[in-house]
This record gives sequence, structure tokens and C-alpha cells, in this order.
Amino acid sequence: MNIYLKQIADPKLTDRFAELIDAAENIVITCHTSPDGDALGSSLALMHLLVGIGKQAHVVTPDVAPDSLRFIPGVKEIVPFTRHEEFARQLFNQAQLIVALDFNALNRLDRMAPLMADATAPKVLIDHHLGPEPIADVIISHPEQSSTCLLLFRVLCQMGWAELIDRKVASCIYTGMMTDTGNFTYNDSDPEIYLVIAHLMECGIDKDRLYRLAFNTKSENQLRLNAYAIAEKMEIMTEHGAALITLDKEELARFNYKKGDTEGLVNQPLAIPGVRYSVFLREGDDYVKVSARSTGDIPMDILCSQFFNGGGHKNAAGGEFYGSLHDAVETFRKATLTFDKYINTDNK
Ligand code: 5GP
Ligand code: MN
Repeated sequence: MNIYLKQIADPKLTDRFAELIDAAENIVITCHTSPDGDALGSSLALMHLLVGIGKQAHVVTPDVAPDSLRFIPGVKEIVPFTRHEEFARQLFNQAQLIVALDFNALNRLDRMAPLMADATAPKVLIDHHLGPEPIADVIISHPEQSSTCLLLFRVLCQMGWAELIDRKVASCIYTGMMTDTGNFTYNDSDPEIYLVIAHLMECGIDKDRLYRLAFNTKSENQLRLNAYAIAEKMEIMTEHGAALITLDKEELARFNYKKGDTEGLVNQPLAIPGVRYSVFLREGDDYVKVSARSTGDIPMDILCSQFFNGGGHKNAAGGEFYGSLHDAVETFRKATLTFDKYINTDNK
């Protein structure tokens, strides 16, 4: 089974990655806090591959995987730092190679950041966020790729490892490609993505099942919470082309909120003609979590970095606001004023 793709990664870097894998026995794979489908999919795909060639490979995450992503093959083997701090520390100390996937800055590892910073093993970063910090010896950074999973697939092919991609690895990779593009509905202008999907289908993935598990599986509470948020808590700011949804702690508790329950909610206002970007503010214990989505050329990464201590991609970004939910809303109202310039110059 052959697949011909453009060689986008620098062969010097992919060769170095292959050499480092060759030389290592114990390998730690890590990804960002609050891991999403792309972070977990890429990490677990690489873990399965490395275990398959006889390596001791562990995925160590800053915190636990959400219930909604427990269907990804291998999730049970993940070592979350928040649950197994000592074991995580030991794995980082023993590692001869650390592979960081789907993040561009150490602070995305949260309280686990010192483990990566202090580790003496060589580090490889494979990521698609803009402007990676110099946190690894080998940095394979391609912000034009819609997901780290797609980038990892390309890197594996360039390394001549395509034959090692079995159904399990393919399912992990497909999950991240699908979740980072809203099932191939945004950031999806690369025709080769469909060659990759075809290849993964030949590896045996059940893409309809993966879609159902990733996008169409919700608890009753979750469904009710999302319906409540849209019906009662969505504000449409027509003159700014913006939408805002807020949920405070009391409301979240009323629906027995669990991590991941509001996944995808921020996208929904974009269905309304005239809404060009949408922000969701969720009150947490230490900060207000910010999620932002847009269509066209309205840069949510700039919105999140300027106003909400965050970043991300042009059409999907996030951040954290240290203050009350009320102040976060006021900050967003100010942001809409500075964002009118994008709405006015972009006539989509
Ligand atoms: P989500 O809204 O799904 O939590 O995040 C969407 C994207 O925004 C993520 O893939 C990530 O790139 C970025 N992002 C989310 N939260 C943060 C954050 O707190 N800091 C930064 N720098 N990026 C974030
Ligand atoms: Mn990603």
C-alpha cells in the first residue's frame, strides 16, 4: 500500500528524529494540558508505533483525558501527572527521548512544565501551532497543517514508517485529523488530506464509528446544558458580528458539568448568518476558561493573546482570564470594539 505525499518536513529533521528513536530505549511522549483529540490521537498513535517496534514508550499528560475521548485506543495506558506525579517524574528522568506533540510553549504543560524543562534527554517537538518556543532540540513545526496528527502521519511516511501504521495507529491519527478540523469542515484546504483519509481507511479505520464517538455521543446532562446555554445564555452582538456565551459555576453545577461537556458549544453560534466569531466563557475555580472560534480572516489567536492570556490558531483559539466572569465579559466587550476593523475589511 503506497501513498505519495509532498515531503513537507525537512529531511534533516526527520532523519534526526529517526536516529533519536533508534538510540532510545525509554521514550516519553507528552502533549498539552486538557488534551483534545489531536493531542491524544497523535500521542497514542506514536506510542503504539514505538511499542510495536520494541520500545518502552509512555504517554505522560499534564492531566486526565476527558471521558468523551476515552474511545481512542490506548487511553487507559496514559499516565496523567495529576494522578501519578511520582511515576510521571520517574518516566521523565529515565527517558532517553522525549517527544512533545501538539503544543508550542512549555506553559501548555501546566504544573508538569518543570519535568520537561529539567529533563536531560533529547527532545523532539512535532506541532502545528504558530511560533514554537525553543523547547526542543529538534522542532518540526508546520502551522499550515490542520492537525498534529496529519503532520505526524506525514513525518512517519517521510521516515519510511508508513507500513507500521495499523488499524489502531490509523484510528488515533484519524481522530485528531477529524477533531481539529470539525470533521473536515474548517482549516481543511489541503487536498492531500483526502489521500491520507483514503490511506487510513485502507488501514481499516471505521470512520463513521469514530465520528459518532467523537461528535455525536453526549450524556443527558450534557445535551441539556448545551441546550440551556444556547437558549438562555447566548448573546448575539449583531453590530460587531460577534456572539458570546457564558456559563457560571452555579449553572455548570446544576447540570452536573464534567470536563468536555461543553466541547463544540462555541462553534454553534457561527451557524447564524452574520455571526463571524464566537466566544464562550466558562467560569472555573481559578480562572475563566475562554474558547474562541471564527470564520474567514478574523484572528481568534490574536483575540486570545491580546485579551485572554492565550493563543491558538486563526479560527480556533483559547485562553484563560484571571478575574471574575463579569470582568471577562467586560473585557470581551472591549475586544469586540477593536475587532470591528477585521469585520469591516473582511466581507465574507
Ligand atoms: P479550545 O477552545 O478547544 O479549548 O481550544 C482551541 C485551540 O486554542 C487549542 O487547540 C489551542 O491551540 C488553543 N488554546 C486553547 N486554550 C489555550 C490556552 O489557554 N493558551 C493557549 N496559548 N492556547 C490555547
Ligand atoms: Mn492540534
